[in-house]
Formats: sequence, C-alpha cells, structure tokens
Amino acid sequence: ESDEIKKRLNQLIHDLGLADEVQVVLTGCFGFCEKGPIVKVLPDNTFYVQVTPNDVVEIVEEHIVKGRLVKRLLYTDPTNDEQISDSKGMDFYKKQIRIALKNCGFINPENIDEYIARDGYQALGKCLSERTPEEVIKEVKDSGLRGRGGGGFPTGLKWEITKNVENDQKYVVCNADEGDPGAFMDRSILEGDPHSVLEAMAICGYCIGADKGLVYIRAEYPLAIQRLKIAIKQAEEYGLIGDDILGTGFNFHIELRYGAGAFVCGEETALIHSMEGLRGEPTFKPPFPSVSGYMGKPTNVNNVETFANIPVILNKGAEWFSKIGTEKSKGTKVFALAGKINNVGLIEVPMGTTLREVIYDIGGGIKDGKEFKAVQTGGPSGGCLTKDFLDLPIDYDNLLASGSMMGSGGMIVMDENDCMVSIAKFYLDFTLEESCGKCTPCRVGNKRLYELLDKITQGKGEEQDIEKLKELSVVIKDTALCGLGQTSPNPVLSTIKNFEDEYKAHVLDGK
Ligand code: SF4
Repeated sequence: ESDEIKKRLNQLIHDLGLADEVQVVLTGCFGFCEKGPIVKVLPDNTFYVQVTPNDVVEIVEEHIVKGRLVKRLLYTDPTNDEQISDSKGMDFYKKQIRIALKNCGFINPENIDEYIARDGYQALGKCLSERTPEEVIKEVKDSGLRGRGGGGFPTGLKWEITKNVENDQKYVVCNADEGDPGAFMDRSILEGDPHSVLEAMAICGYCIGADKGLVYIRAEYPLAIQRLKIAIKQAEEYGLIGDDILGTGFNFHIELRYGAGAFVCGEETALIHSMEGLRGEPTFKPPFPSVSGYMGKPTNVNNVETFANIPVILNKGAEWFSKIGTEKSKGTKVFALAGKINNVGLIEVPMGTTLREVIYDIGGGIKDGKEFKAVQTGGPSGGCLTKDFLDLPIDYDNLLASGSMMGSGGMIVMDENDCMVSIAKFYLDFTLEESCGKCTPCRVGNKRLYELLDKITQGKGEEQDIEKLKELSVVIKDTALCGLGQTSPNPVLSTIKNFEDEYKAHVLDGK
C-alpha cells in the first residue's frame, strides 16, 4: 500500500507541476505500525495516519497546494480526543528516546547522502583519522553499552577481547538472524537505516584488526537484504567501505550471508557454523568466537541493534550515552510491542522505563478496554510478568530478577481472556520446532513438556502433572547444551509461578 501511495503522490505532484518543489521520499518504519501507512509532511511535521491510496488527492490538493490540514487523517489522541498533527506531540513518541532508531522514518534508506546529512560516517572518519583502536574501545566500554541481542554482554569488552587475540585474519559478524516471535527490531533498523550498521561494523573492524565483515541475515527479510545491498554498494562507491577507506590505508569489506530462518542460528556458534555451510548447531564454549570463530579465526559477533548504537555513541560521547538508563543498563532499548495492546509497533525507550509507561502511556493500554493480564518479555526464552511488575523499571537485571529476561526486545501483551497455559504451550511449540535436536534434554525433554501441556489444556491432566512440569523444566534448564534449551522451559516455569491456579483449573474442571 505504501508503494501505491508513493506512486500516486509522485504522479499527482508531477501532474500539478510541483515536482521541483515537492519531493516524495520512501522512508523506513516510523515505529507506529498500528497507524500505518503514515505520510509525514515536512517542514511542518504533519503526521497523517492510516493513509490509503485514495487519500492522496486530498493530501496534495488540500495540504500541499492550499496549506490546509486534512483533519480526518490526523492522529487523534484517544485520551482526550484531541487532533494531533505533529508526531512530537503524540503520546506514542513522548517518552521515547531514539538512538538505534534515530534515522528510521527520517531518511530514505536507499540514499547514502541522507544518512551522511545526519552525521552518517562521521564517527568512522574520526576514528580512522584521529583515534587509536584502544581509544575507541575505551569509549565504547565507558558508554556501558551491552549486547542488545539478549545476552547483555558488555560490547566494548567483547571488542577488546577479540582485539587482544593475535591473528592476522579476524572477522566482524553482524547477527541479523532475528527469530523471536513478534520481534522485528533488527529488520526495521536494516530496512530504515542500513548504513548505521555498516558504519559500526567498519569501526569494529578497525578496533579489533579485522578487514572483513559479514552480515548473517535471514533470507525471509528480502527488503532488508535489498537495502543492505544498495547501502554496501553506495558506501563502496563513496570510499567508505572497501580498500583504503578515506585514504587511511584501512581496508574493510562487507558481504552478506543468508540464513534459512532457524531460531537456533541466533546463537553465536550455531550462526558461525551456518555461515561456514555446516548445520546450524551450537557447540560448547569455550572456545568463544572471539578466540576461534568463523573459519577458526577470532570473530566479533554483535547484533544489529548493538551496532546501530555505536555511531551515535562515538559522535555524542560515552558520557552522554551513559547518562541515559539505569546504573547497570545504559542507553535505550528497542521493543516490539505486540499482542493485545492498542499501539502495536516499535518503540525505543531509556532503560529504566517502567512496564506501565510502556504498556499504557506509549502502548495506549489494552485493546477493547480489557484488563491487562501479563506481558511476555524475552520471547520464547523469557517469562511472563504480571500486573505486580507494572512499576518495574525495565533493565537487564530487573527483568532477570523477576523471572524473565530482556531477550532481543519482543513484548507480547496478554489480556484477561488469555489462557496462560496455552501461552506456555504456544512458546514451547515454537522452541520444539526450532530445537536443532543435538542434545537430549532439549530434543526429548521439551517434547515431553509439550505433551504434558497438551494433556492439561485438553482437560486430561492430573495434579501431579504440574509437579512433573516443574521437575522436568529444571532438568532441561540445567542440562541442555545451548541457550535455546537452557531457557526453553522459562515460559512454563513463569506461568506456573504466576498462574498456577489456571493450570489447576484445567486439571480440576477437565477442560
Ligand atoms: Fe540444539 Fe536444543 Fe541442544 Fe541447543 S539445547 S544444542 S538447540 S538441542
């Protein structure tokens, strides 16, 4: 639909002889998916929502030609019925701070000039010409940035470890194998701002001593792939990727590697095996990829969102970045809001924002005025948080302490009508499907867990089945080989912990 809107806008603007004055630019995602497609008119920043191709004539003739707002397409604040024309005034954006999503919705991702106009490649230029790798790594360490893919490992420290391994061949890998159900942060960044990731990969290469970068991206992301390819080509033409970057003698090439959409390939060692053309199975660590990764060489793996933070940190400084967030979780986090929430979309908030702010102030509350029941964070590896946690400041440590986890940032909201046993079964079904089958606790244990859940949801369960679920979950967590298996029982354990009455109701009511 967006393509059709763009086509009609261009045609009409051309027919009215306005093509020299008015430019139509297709951007990446604004984040406010619930209200898409969005047409933003600059310079007055008017934000038209849920636009259809049939609205194009009115937008052009009324707004662009006569300077009058098309009121029926303006966003209406549901709390006070007030028409809002400016995105800055919307509750959806008020509490957000955009670092990783800084350019998404603002630039044409297929035009490198627009990225450069918003300080793009400035950080790379400064690093190569003015700073040593040690200085850059120190800045990243001082910023407190932690891996946004789920692990939360300090990014600067990871770079330092890889840098300190002696080897004449090293690699930078970008993990773009986003696989959580309901998560689309990385896809949006790559579709909306691919150069930020390429720039950060080159900076990382400079720091660790690598001349090659690989983006491991799932083949199901065709638009992200297309935009990455365009971005790589443009950056090469501008001398920002390739040999002798900016005349500094630093060489850095970037290639794409495609994944077949296996969730387990988000795990670093499985990802590397898949890139090598092997089965995407995890292996024991150590050795860590920083020491022996792609083709046995030291490899630094970071995910898309982590990389997207790097140019901004280096442009604005570690001190600026580290003032945002909580004591141990600095900066912002991108979350994909999905499920029974009014404003489905992509948001970026400072670490420490409470769940209540995310769900009610930004997310607009629960659909159809229903009661909030729980939110699943961390995808299938995470857990559900109940209303008792609504005032919990979200950061890595608080989520872990509450029995869930940050994960890559998926948030699925449940309302009063959702059955939590079925939710646990849904996630386990996903994990079961995605298990690589290498180790018995995950391959067989999760199957047994699923069978128990299935029995309970069919009303055929017995009370001791709930205890069996708990015992088996603990065994799987303790003995599975990789993170996928070790975290797969989390949705079962957290739903039993918070909603055991629902398990019992299934057993007692026989349905
Ligand atoms: Fe494969 Fe599961 Fe074992 Fe991980 S825990 S290695 S996904 S079988």
